[in-house]
Amino acid sequence: MAVALTAITERVHMAQTPLVNWTVVADDAGVMLIDAGFPGSRDEVLGSLRELGFGPTDVTAILLTHAHVDHFGTAIWFAQTHGTPVYCHADEVGHAKRDYLQQASPVDLMRHAWQPRWVKWSVDIMRKGALTHDGIPTAAVLTDDIASTLPGQPTAVPTPGHTGGHCSYIVDGVLVAGDALVTGHPLAARKGPQLLHPVFNHDEAGCVRSLSALATLDADVLIPGHGDLWIGPVREAARQATPA
Ligand SMILES: [Zn+2]
Repeated sequence: MAVALTAITERVHMAQTPLVNWTVVADDAGVMLIDAGFPGSRDEVLGSLRELGFGPTDVTAILLTHAHVDHFGTAIWFAQTHGTPVYCHADEVGHAKRDYLQQASPVDLMRHAWQPRWVKWSVDIMRKGALTHDGIPTAAVLTDDIASTLPGQPTAVPTPGHTGGHCSYIVDGVLVAGDALVTGHPLAARKGPQLLHPVFNHDEAGCVRSLSALATLDADVLIPGHGDLWIGPVREAARQATPA
């Protein structure tokens, strides 16, 4: 599967695949991933780094928007193999360690199995290692002090709902929203700003509250966890994604 890498600013690059996106931030402080695809996305993640002239040992940190398998998959490998530090919101650390799991179960998903779109997607994500149960024992809290030393000096914007400790990040004025606000998904009936299907959200009301929080931001570019890049006021994207 090909990965499309788009330069958003000098430092921020969006890596897009049909199943999930991640962000590569590179500057003098090194290179950092925000999210890291499925466990089986390793070739694509390494490909996105290589395109910018980096190898796996150049990655100084991985930030997670949340610890779902499609977003932290290769971070398991990076942490195990290269000792790469992995950071997330304080309320997501236990999830990243797999002290507990806040993810739709195969049984939840089976309820939708009569829909062809869901069948194809299920097969695709299984191939990408969606059933991996590994956690990241070394996952740590992203503090302001740590954030100030990372490439792009990301600012955390807590957006709980999709998971209890979901967090978005702003780098260079670009909002990296993870699954707090997406613009498409293989299971979505339409493109454009939206929330994911409720089966994937831990707390639907929290998701809506987090959209309100995002609507107060001044950002004009949005890299979603799934779907296409959004260029325009994030406030407008959040408005469109808010259920009527
Ligand atoms: Zn996701």
